[in-house]
Amino acid sequence: MRICRNISLKPYNTFGLEYMADTMIHVRTEKEAKALFNGELSWKKPLLILGGGSNILFTGDFSGTILFPAFSRIKFEEHKNEHVIVSAGAGVEWDKLVEWTVRMGFGGLENLSGIPGNVGAVPVQNIGAYGSEVKDYITKVRTISTTDGKVRVFSNDECRFGYRTSVFKKSEKGKYLVTRVYFKLDLNFKPNLNYGSLNEEVDRLGQPTLRNVRIAIINIRQRKLPDPKVIGNAGSFFKNPVVSRIVAEKLLKSFAGLPLFDDPSGNKKLAAGWMIEQCGWKGWRIRDAGVHEKQALVLVNYGNATGKDIFDLSEKIRISVKDKFEVNLEREVEVTGTI
Ligand SMILES: Cc1cc2nc3c(=O)[nH]c(=O)nc-3n(C[C@H](O)[C@H](O)[C@H](O)COP(=O)(O)OP(=O)(O)OC[C@H]3O[C@@H](n4cnc5c(N)ncnc54)[C@H](O)[C@@H]3O)c2cc1C
Repeated sequence: MRICRNISLKPYNTFGLEYMADTMIHVRTEKEAKALFNGELSWKKPLLILGGGSNILFTGDFSGTILFPAFSRIKFEEHKNEHVIVSAGAGVEWDKLVEWTVRMGFGGLENLSGIPGNVGAVPVQNIGAYGSEVKDYITKVRTISTTDGKVRVFSNDECRFGYRTSVFKKSEKGKYLVTRVYFKLDLNFKPNLNYGSLNEEVDRLGQPTLRNVRIAIINIRQRKLPDPKVIGNAGSFFKNPVVSRIVAEKLLKSFAGLPLFDDPSGNKKLAAGWMIEQCGWKGWRIRDAGVHEKQALVLVNYGNATGKDIFDLSEKIRISVKDKFEVNLEREVEVTGTI
């Protein structure tokens, strides 16, 4: 266990915001985590579990304890007919795991290539991209209760996954530290190329192999999304709103060209980025907070923005989308601190 005091959060959030934390504890083993939560060790509340900080907006200094799970190791667990089970510690970088599965010839996670962050946050958020959601591959999630230090294993059903959400973001928020995630992957790889320009991008590379799908996804992402190492951002700031078919049809009558997608719930998903662009925000900049010039769903820090600057901009965007489309945008990024 490593305990650091008065630590800058700048390297720990992809917006690159310069705030301080009182205490940061790096835990490397379940034994260490248990000792923190079963009362053996004392620490200052509130608690924030932090992975790669790629889905968080800090709006001020954090006066409490930041827990950084550093559980490493990718493990091959078992081989079951056409499938394999693999697991990864919460501290493993997500894309390192995806790269490994592609190298091993295990299909499933390739469409989720290039997403920043660590394995521990993946079930919290139920990450998704290019027609794929991680919930379809997770078999179970091993956790430690932050209230008594006991191990609890959540089955896929118990995680109650939804669009960019799970039980860990709702009723059990902050109550469990994810330590290890288990995935069921395919030995008979079936490419999923139905999303946008993915098929053409793979075609340009040759056969639809696991490796080519991964390269294609990374190429598309690099063209569309700003690199947080260059411009601070946390990917999509808002979720794509899901509305009833009736509301969707009404909107389409007023706004020709409104992109609509089928949602597994039977409702329709709207493209939040398109709506934000229609409100004139694409490429907008207020001091150092801005809306990315290629992707209106991504808010950026050009260098010296504060968390409040970015939050205020996001509120202006939310209000203008509500005024124009009568649709509420919900944040995908988690705001931490007072606003
Ligand atoms: C350029 C860019 C592109 C992105 N593209 C996508 C995309 O295509 N699809 C997508 O879904 N997301 C995307 N994201 C968002 C982000 O990468 C994901 O949400 C990612 O899973 C967050 O991981 P993290 O480790 O950085 O989590 P953090 O931001 O550190 O934490 C996110 C939440 O998870 C909790 N948490 C983290 N680790 C644990 C743990 N071990 N136990 C319990 N709780 C934990 C935190 O407390 C917090 O509530 C993108 C972000 C960026 C910057």
